[in-house]
Amino acid sequence: MQSPLTFFWFRRDLRLHDNAGLYHALKSGNPVLPVFIFDSEILDQLEDKRDRRVEFIHQAVNELQTQLTQFGSTLIVKYGKPTEIWQQFSQEYTIAEVHTNHDYEPYAIARDKTIGEFLNGKGTAFYTHKDQCIFEKSEVLSGAGTPYTVFTPYSRKWKEKVNEFYLRSYLTETYFNAFLKTTPLTVPSLESMGFEATSQHFPAKEVRSELLQNYKDCRDIPSIPGTSRLSVHLRFGTVSIRKLVREARNLSETFLNELIWRDFYMQILWHFPHVGQGQAFRPEYDRIEWRHDEPQFQAWCEGRTGYPIVDAGMRELNATGFMHNRVRMITASFLTKHLLIDWRWGEAYFAQKLLDYDFSANNGGWQWASGSGTDAAPYFRIFNPTSQTQKFDPQHTYIKQWVPEISDFDYPEPIVDHAFARERCLKVYKKALKP
Ligand code: FAD
Repeated sequence: MQSPLTFFWFRRDLRLHDNAGLYHALKSGNPVLPVFIFDSEILDQLEDKRDRRVEFIHQAVNELQTQLTQFGSTLIVKYGKPTEIWQQFSQEYTIAEVHTNHDYEPYAIARDKTIGEFLNGKGTAFYTHKDQCIFEKSEVLSGAGTPYTVFTPYSRKWKEKVNEFYLRSYLTETYFNAFLKTTPLTVPSLESMGFEATSQHFPAKEVRSELLQNYKDCRDIPSIPGTSRLSVHLRFGTVSIRKLVREARNLSETFLNELIWRDFYMQILWHFPHVGQGQAFRPEYDRIEWRHDEPQFQAWCEGRTGYPIVDAGMRELNATGFMHNRVRMITASFLTKHLLIDWRWGEAYFAQKLLDYDFSANNGGWQWASGSGTDAAPYFRIFNPTSQTQKFDPQHTYIKQWVPEISDFDYPEPIVDHAFARERCLKVYKKALKP
């Protein structure tokens, strides 16, 4: 009989340092065997076989494997359906406990419930931990004990509550000798899972103090590197949110607020699961009669709307998997308000393309733009792409980077007139929202 092992299951927490679940696994008293599963249920749905998120994860998993090999241990990396893989593990090993970190997305909640029940049925304890945010679920509630649905009071309470206890690092390195000593296993290649590598670089994991110090003044200007570009690292947990919040508290209140937005949207998804099922946060917004105009949607996707700032944003997204936050707001507002196309179409397109795609932040951003979400600007406040350009890209520096043909004859005419679109939007929204 094999001596019992503790398994640690990596998901969106791809780092050895300051990892809550891993810390608890390493302290369990059993040798620890870490695992990562390339989930075929998710990967098989990705149309683009050069999807850079898969490549990002693959690189991060390889990095973990290199580090674990240095400790004389290994990472087991599998490709397949998590339920089936856990069945195999439970046949091959004597597993005393499994630790993993919370994941709040609807698919993940259902998956973890099934696997937790299966493991418990086999006499294996399944422990889950908070790791990817500072406050989760019902940790920040109003005085009345209800979830906040507006950001400012939420952030005030968040700041009142946060202290060293919530921000301290989990010192996993103290227990690295608990990793099972074994021969290294191989990581499946991208090709074996049907994917290909690209030659593009990913944003750096570190953020300079100087950037955070200037963040407040620079973060809205898409032509300069004024934001951290850490979103993909936060998405897959290659950086620790606790470490980042500690830095933000010292260097930039504005940057800290952005990190709090992240927690805010995660708890919205948790408390209001209807937003995870394709519904508007404010149900009356589901009465809006969207125009299901496929050719105009396609023009928006491809950056051919004739509005340079919108086109630049969409082309940046298509080419790099990134779009600056200010431009995400402009493009999302344009789709929902100027073209009156259902925000869910835009949400799905961003989900397909964004390197940092995260259900709660993306859904929150789209519902904000369409007016149906928390904190939504009143529906009659409609972004004017031209004045947004004058304010945030007056020299067209960002635009020219992505729409070099802006002054040529072949640049398309605007797909819709601003004044006309504004009036149409007001009329349709008003009709749907009248009490
Ligand atoms: P920074 O400005 O450096 O901010 C630091 C971090 O704070 C970000 O990395 C991110 O984790 C968090 N953050 C910043 N703004 C927000 C926000 N509004 N909501 C939640 N978290 C935030 N962010 C995603 O991470 N994934 C998404 O899928 C996503 N979709 C969006 C869709 C729309 C329509 C909009 C308007 C915003 C969306 N955002 C999303 C939020 C924001 O645009 C990105 O987090 C940001 O642009 C990432 O760049 P950065 O890392 O340089 O951000």
